[in-house]
Amino acid sequence: MTIIHRIKELREFLNLYIRDDKSIGFVPTMGALHSGHCDLIQRSSAENDITVVSIFVNPIQFGKNEDFDTYPRTLAEDCKIASQSGANIVFVPAENDMFKGGIVSYVDVENLQSNLCGLKRAGHFRGVCTIVAKFFNIVKPNKAYFGKKDIQQLTIIQRMTDDLNFDIQIIPCDIVREQDGLAMSSRNRHLSESERADSLVLSTMLKRAVEQIDGGQKSSQKVINMIKDGFSAIESLKIDYVSIVNKEMEDIDTISNGDIIALAVFIGKTRLIDNHIIGESVCF
Ligand code: AMP
Repeated sequence: MTIIHRIKELREFLNLYIRDDKSIGFVPTMGALHSGHCDLIQRSSAENDITVVSIFVNPIQFGKNEDFDTYPRTLAEDCKIASQSGANIVFVPAENDMFKGGIVSYVDVENLQSNLCGLKRAGHFRGVCTIVAKFFNIVKPNKAYFGKKDIQQLTIIQRMTDDLNFDIQIIPCDIVREQDGLAMSSRNRHLSESERADSLVLSTMLKRAVEQIDGGQKSSQKVINMIKDGFSAIESLKIDYVSIVNKEMEDIDTISNGDIIALAVFIGKTRLIDNHIIGESVCF
């Protein structure tokens, strides 16, 4: 596996493969890799001739009071994990290479972000789309792998890819969870022992919501109230949002298949998100 830091060097390296018609799979990450990332990398490695994993904590997707400075950075360990999962290249661009001369051009998907994380984190998806578009132009992958854990991000990236005619197949990957149900996240490593125990309430309440819906409950508000009740028992937890939305990320009244139960909470200082797409198999 090769570690590359400069855009020019990556392009030269990849051009050799593109010339030979080799397929390129791409997994963008912010590092602190865990089994969720591994799953994306393994899938890319199985489906493509060469897999590029980017590790870049993207400053333009963090708000002023968010955790850019404290986001976990574990590059040496990440390279080992990426290699074991089948990555051929780990691309770790320097900030001054990605944003040479500053940046004044952004990619903004106008729909799909007036709710959930888009509403709570102003400018977040503009930062995500801009960096992903830049990576798409640098890596020129055939397929790019994104987790359903960040369901709004996945939806927005798919839309950006369609709207801007990137000739790239977006591959959605299922949420990978710890054995007890907690969705894997780089931020989980910030949780204290007691916060880690409290964080289980996310998957527990998703499971209860699915049970209610399977039992015939169709009222979105009733399911949301039930989840909020469950959350209120946890002292360390502050709700950011509890929503049920359709594929356009709009709040809905009556639940049907394909709708999404989406949760974002703070456990102590750590922001965690989780979701479930109604009708998909339950994995918690
Ligand atoms: P991040 O490093 O958090 O920006 O995530 C990089 C990619 O990994 C994104 O496409 C995420 O949706 C995906 N990802 C993160 N956590 C998980 C998980 N638990 N299961 C599946 N995919 C994940």
